Amino acid sequence: MPIEYDAIIVGSGPNGLAAAITLTRAGCSVLVCEANATIGGGARSAELTLPGFVHDVCSAVHPLAAASPFFETLPLERFGLKWIQPEIPLAHPLDDASAACLYQDVDYTAEQLGRDSRGYRSLMQPLARKWQHLAIEFLQPMLHLPRHPFTLARFGIPAICPATSLAKFLFKDEPARALFAGLAAHSFLPLQAPVSSAFALVLGLAGHVVGWPIPRGGSQQISNALAGYLRELGGNIEVNRPIENLNQLPRSRAVLLDISVWEFLRIAGKRLPPRYRRRLELFRHAPGIFKIDYALSEPIPWKADACRHAGTIHLGGNIDAIAAAERDVSRGKIPERPFVLVAQQSLFDETRAPRGQHTLWAYCHVPFGADGDMSEKIESQIERFASGFRDCILARNKMGAADLARSNANLTGGDISGGAADLAQLIARPILSATPYRTPLAGVYLCSASTPPGGGVHGMCGYHAARAALRDHFSTRKR
Ligand SMILES: Cc1cc2nc3c(=O)[nH]c(=O)nc-3n(C[C@H](O)[C@H](O)[C@H](O)COP(=O)(O)OP(=O)(O)OC[C@H]3O[C@@H](n4cnc5c(N)ncnc54)[C@H](O)[C@@H]3O)c2cc1C
Repeated sequence: MPIEYDAIIVGSGPNGLAAAITLTRAGCSVLVCEANATIGGGARSAELTLPGFVHDVCSAVHPLAAASPFFETLPLERFGLKWIQPEIPLAHPLDDASAACLYQDVDYTAEQLGRDSRGYRSLMQPLARKWQHLAIEFLQPMLHLPRHPFTLARFGIPAICPATSLAKFLFKDEPARALFAGLAAHSFLPLQAPVSSAFALVLGLAGHVVGWPIPRGGSQQISNALAGYLRELGGNIEVNRPIENLNQLPRSRAVLLDISVWEFLRIAGKRLPPRYRRRLELFRHAPGIFKIDYALSEPIPWKADACRHAGTIHLGGNIDAIAAAERDVSRGKIPERPFVLVAQQSLFDETRAPRGQHTLWAYCHVPFGADGDMSEKIESQIERFASGFRDCILARNKMGAADLARSNANLTGGDISGGAADLAQLIARPILSATPYRTPLAGVYLCSASTPPGGGVHGMCGYHAARAALRDHFSTRKR
């Protein structure tokens, strides 16, 4: 059979599209096969509740996309992507109707933290100044020779600490501790676990350097812009094309899989050498999520004024309460008061809802595979910091683990991270190698969030996997 394409990409998530662009830019002919009717994977938008309300099906807030060294090289604005910076990137309300906030300005953020102003500034300021160097180091496989070892060490020492220990050591008061805990909870790790601080640092620093922007019109605009550029370069995309077996694919020199480790085992497990297969079978899932999108008749009546100006809100109360909720989740228990992440895009983007009305995106962490209805618990948490919230609800769309997996095979059990991001799996993702994208199957690469640097909309897994494929099969093409 003749070769039909230089490379085939399975999956059109941000990493699949990033891989396709990298290969097409180097002169390769590329086909992307997407199982769904719409492209984008974890970066999609749809009218999930009522006509005229545009909801982000998965990702909503994009510090990692705005900070991505790969996306920075792409002309995405020409293809319709416009970032909106909410007035305040992140607010974290407390029970006394106050809120700790992450502002883009490090000094201003620190000043609002009272007695913890010095601690916050001394942690964040030096790292924010070195952000460009740091981003290069942690947005690639951990096993590499660092180009900026001193900066990396300065980041690495606090980053490896458990978030609860670091926050309690550095900060005296509840607001700064709670702010740090909420950021660290993005790790899906118990906050007593090593490296949970790394997530707080990366997301906090990104907030200071590039903000926590949202795309005008919804996350689908990120995928549409990536796909628009890919098509301009000559790449092809076919939707409604689920791949059940690698033999189904047209012949090509390389195949890049934007699929999770478990989807890879499902469609190619039998062909994998037993040792590699066993390694993948040992790869552990992250906990899951339960998500609700709301159509609202009016903005949320937050008690803390800052929350009315913030794109993202973290709900969970103080550090001990957040740590307890995350500990329950990691032990397979449904938390009574879960940590809830909320984004209120329509406050800053009028394209998301009919005039005067609003959207709300919310999810909480649950144990892997848990499929109970968390809406009552999520709404109680919102109501705790915004009494009267329930009166604003016009419609809701709920997504549990099974719904998420149906909408994207990568989200089995509600795991949105492509696998747990604990210390072991940050180093060996999914295997210990300087090029973990290569698989033992000739010409077959993994390029999803199950590879470094992991979850989030940044395209760096796809970019690095494509570079490995270019080195292996297309060494004469420009990279
Ligand atoms: C609810 C939710 C909220 C999130 N919030 C944020 C956020 O605010 N900010 C952020 O940065 N990140 C967020 N994320 C994470 C982010 O969406 C993912 O980390 C990111 O999309 C991973 O990209 P990917 O390209 O690796 O895979 P995906 O985006 O999962 O894309 C994989 C694609 O492959 C397709 N596919 C899978 N199997 C097959 C097959 N066998 N054949 C053909 N196609 C297949 C899928 O349909 C999908 O389109 C969120 C995720 C979820 C689910």
